Amino acid sequence: MTDIKFKGLFLLILGCFCSFASAQKVKVIDTDFSKGQLTHVQQVSYRDLVKFHGHSCDGLLEGMQALELALQVLYPDGIVDRTNTRVVSKSSPCLTDAAVYLTGGRYQYNSFYVNDSIQGMYIVQRIDNGKTVSVSRNKGVKPAIIDQMGSKAVRKELSYVQLRELKKYEDEYSQKLKKTDPALNFTVITLFDYQWKSVLNPYFIKTDVINKNAK
Ligand SMILES: [Zn+2]
Repeated sequence: MTDIKFKGLFLLILGCFCSFASAQKVKVIDTDFSKGQLTHVQQVSYRDLVKFHGHSCDGLLEGMQALELALQVLYPDGIVDRTNTRVVSKSSPCLTDAAVYLTGGRYQYNSFYVNDSIQGMYIVQRIDNGKTVSVSRNKGVKPAIIDQMGSKAVRKELSYVQLRELKKYEDEYSQKLKKTDPALNFTVITLFDYQWKSVLNPYFIKTDVINKNAK
């Protein structure tokens, strides 16, 4: 291989790595104080999400990658408005943490709730224009052994050694997710005329966003 070709290949591989690495970062906008305006832009990373959640795991990474794809559809300018987004999540502790952290949806303000009967992993809605998407993991992406052993673990049927084996499978799956374009692993579909039907109390007011458009 010539030197130029080698450099080209190197740059191509580097480019792919960077694009998938950027899949673990989301640019968000929030208000800038307790009664603030919508001006505070920052980038949140998978590492930040791990600190919130408590550990890194395959479910958390899946949640972040799936949400990032969904949020790209709702916010094509690349900046996710966490004062303008609500989400329904499947009940996994990892998926729900990714949902509230990345979308800004909150149970107490009726912008986040949990429902295991939804299609896919999440339903995400942009409040201002009502645009709504569902995001699912594609068939065959997650090794079946993880859910098989995971179900036993939830029933407390795995020994310590088996639990550590399960962690190894989950870590291997996480590595696969990190090295793959998320668009190959998750699918976003638009839901037309989706009605937000939370059963939660809608009366608490999120007071730190009510002045967000003051000028
Ligand atoms: Zn987790």
